[in-house]
Amino acid sequence: MCPHLERLADLLCCDWEFLPTVYLGLPLGASPVAGSIWNPLISRMQARLEGWKGKFLSFGGRLVLIKSVMASQPTYMCSLFRAPAHIVQAIERLQSSFLWSGANDQKKFHLVSWERCKRPKSLGGLGIPDFRRHNSALLAKWWWKVASEDSWWKRLMSVKYPNNESKWMPGKPLSPVGCSPWSQVFKMKDEFWKFAIVKPGSGDNISFWNDRWIHGTTLVDAFPRGAAAAVLPRARLSDILLRVNESFSWDIEFKYQLRGGAERERESLFSFINSNLPLLSSDQDMISWLPTSSHSFTVRSLYQQLSKEAVACLLTAGQIDDFPVKTVWQNHIPSKICMFVWLTFHRRILTQDALKRKGWSLPNRCSLCIANEEEPNHLFLHCRFTEEVWSIISHFVYFDHRIIRRDISDLIKSWPLLDPQNPKDWCTRSFLHALLWCVWIERNNRIFAEKFSSPSVVSFKIGSLIASWLVAAGKIDKSCGEDWIHNLRRALLPRSFL
Ligand SMILES: [Zn+2]
Repeated sequence: MCPHLERLADLLCCDWEFLPTVYLGLPLGASPVAGSIWNPLISRMQARLEGWKGKFLSFGGRLVLIKSVMASQPTYMCSLFRAPAHIVQAIERLQSSFLWSGANDQKKFHLVSWERCKRPKSLGGLGIPDFRRHNSALLAKWWWKVASEDSWWKRLMSVKYPNNESKWMPGKPLSPVGCSPWSQVFKMKDEFWKFAIVKPGSGDNISFWNDRWIHGTTLVDAFPRGAAAAVLPRARLSDILLRVNESFSWDIEFKYQLRGGAERERESLFSFINSNLPLLSSDQDMISWLPTSSHSFTVRSLYQQLSKEAVACLLTAGQIDDFPVKTVWQNHIPSKICMFVWLTFHRRILTQDALKRKGWSLPNRCSLCIANEEEPNHLFLHCRFTEEVWSIISHFVYFDHRIIRRDISDLIKSWPLLDPQNPKDWCTRSFLHALLWCVWIERNNRIFAEKFSSPSVVSFKIGSLIASWLVAAGKIDKSCGEDWIHNLRRALLPRSFL
């Protein structure tokens, strides 16, 4: 320890502390790989995702809260540190438990894998942000800052992590001591430069071989034998691209005669750079971010690019089918009911056959008809009780029976969306959700409360539910909704209900 530390601190008007410590809310001097520095973040997320909120929020509310906590809590910490795998797992476990169980004291089945929940809604997921990808996009921001800003901070980085080959990026940290945040950021180099280029102006600050002035690659990576044989491996673009009158030529010298494969590589190199000929000017060279129209980096744009890559991998592996996102997720229908239709599409609702597969011992008998085993296709399509409901209510909601399929997922996939301006079509759009939900509630009432309703009463409930959604969304006016419910009541309910 410095012998005059206290005196120096007085002179500089500051305090002194031992490392590791906390500076501006972030751990200083501690290894980000150690789980302990992440404990405050996990505790904060736990506090937001537990307690009364879990008990009283609907599934849709819990989903919104998970996304909101994800967008706010980890941002500060994850902008500087890369979370180790066990921390990512702990955070995802926390989110997953909150989503499916609500509160800690209620253990429930996690009906859909977390990987699927993280997919975009358009691909059959719930659109929950991926923590690892979010962390990567936040870290990559440092690459943008270091390449686009001319600040003391950037100069300090250039001195501490020198890079003789490029002016646009600091070098690799060589010592593991005192540089762990930059080591973590350095790992994001390839992800960042995949979507960024150095846009040539004068070409004076661009390394011909080592900078990405052509999208997708550096020349040293694309033509390694040519780069190894170059007389000037650190030549600037402006040294190599020469203007002769109105045309350009390349002044590249090699240390020896290239033969065989190296010669063919040389020919490919010239063909490649001629097809990507830059127009040099007196402007400054500058970095350009390709995914945004402003060509400025945003964390969101990189997150989206990384997500697209992940989706492309799933598509290549054939793990994604068409998903009817516009049918399942409709803004005017409560999210818990959209969620139920989402689960039904993925065949993840807890019908008796699903419970048996999960190890429950129970006699499987459909509670609506007491004749067949309960499984989703039977419950929603082929059960004689449900068939009667379909038949009664279809007349009132302008629904064409011929669309009904043998499989519930196929039915959801082929459900007509029609014209959003037409109130009758809004009715059809809402019908599927209302029917599945009311049949499910009737099934639960019979099993758990021993309450039984007739197909006519269930049909009335379906019609009333649709009317309430359309009135709340302003698709029909209140008096029209009341008239409709009145007519349904007269047509469907026995006199004792009137
Ligand atoms: Zn049945």
